[in-house]
Amino acid sequence: MTGPSRAAPSGSSGPPAATGPAATDPAGATGQRSGRGGFVPGADGSVPPAPGDIALPVAGRKLWTGPDGAFPRIGDLPTGLPRVPVGTLDGVPAWAVEVPDAEELPGHWRSWRALAAELPEPLATLAGRALAVVTWRRTHRWCGACRTELADVPGETARRCPGCDLYVPLPLSAAVLVAITRPRPGGPDELLLVRHAYGPTGLWALVAGFVEAGESLEAAAHREVGEEVGLAITDPTYFGSQPWAMSGPGTLLAGFTATAADPAAEPVVDGKELTEARWFPLDALPAELPPAYSISRWLIDAVAAGR
Ligand SMILES: [Zn+2]
Repeated sequence: MTGPSRAAPSGSSGPPAATGPAATDPAGATGQRSGRGGFVPGADGSVPPAPGDIALPVAGRKLWTGPDGAFPRIGDLPTGLPRVPVGTLDGVPAWAVEVPDAEELPGHWRSWRALAAELPEPLATLAGRALAVVTWRRTHRWCGACRTELADVPGETARRCPGCDLYVPLPLSAAVLVAITRPRPGGPDELLLVRHAYGPTGLWALVAGFVEAGESLEAAAHREVGEEVGLAITDPTYFGSQPWAMSGPGTLLAGFTATAADPAAEPVVDGKELTEARWFPLDALPAELPPAYSISRWLIDAVAAGR
């Protein structure tokens, strides 16, 4: 991990969901699922919102849904709230609606984590983008170079400074997760799982951390594994990716599988970021695993299934 303010990109937070489309769908690992139509991210605000367009109200780090658990339509909400284009869902424009005060819209405010545990894809991904865009706009209001108020760039998730022309896109922060296995003579392979010192400390998760500027995904996998559990790995192999709305705007998780370089080596944790690290036989994994909507879980399930 590269900073205390960007905790837990591992999907290790939140209650495990009983079911979820990603849990049994290897294509879930590809994230956007654009091959199925569904959600296409965008920023086209050239046509004003129509009453039937999809609305995703955001206040702080929470999203609002109607009593039926579904997102409202633009026509269901009070007029006058700022609306930001975030893309289309099955061709219907979707707008994040910035709600300055959650009490303006009484009722069903929930975290993205809670929504993602319930909503089928691509709604969880759409909700995550709405949350990311609104959070980024709130925290990127002024030019970092000359302090002028930034202006939106039409058609892009970006702002520009009218004073010095600085271009400010929503940046992506990449993080890696690594499912490390080792062979065991006469038994099933073993998977390394860790417990974190923060968040839901009872969950068994994967080694994870943010990629540094100037570093490849693979190099980050080697470095994080070395830093967090003191092990060397061979052949980190890309598995899939997932946009992750819980660790600040623009976090993109990239999952890897890897093999322990020395099958006899045992993990060592520092007790600060991680409290525990342990090898588990693939046929005897613990019950306290990351939620079904997280790439952490997709990776663990895929490794356990021998894929
Ligand atoms: Zn400026």
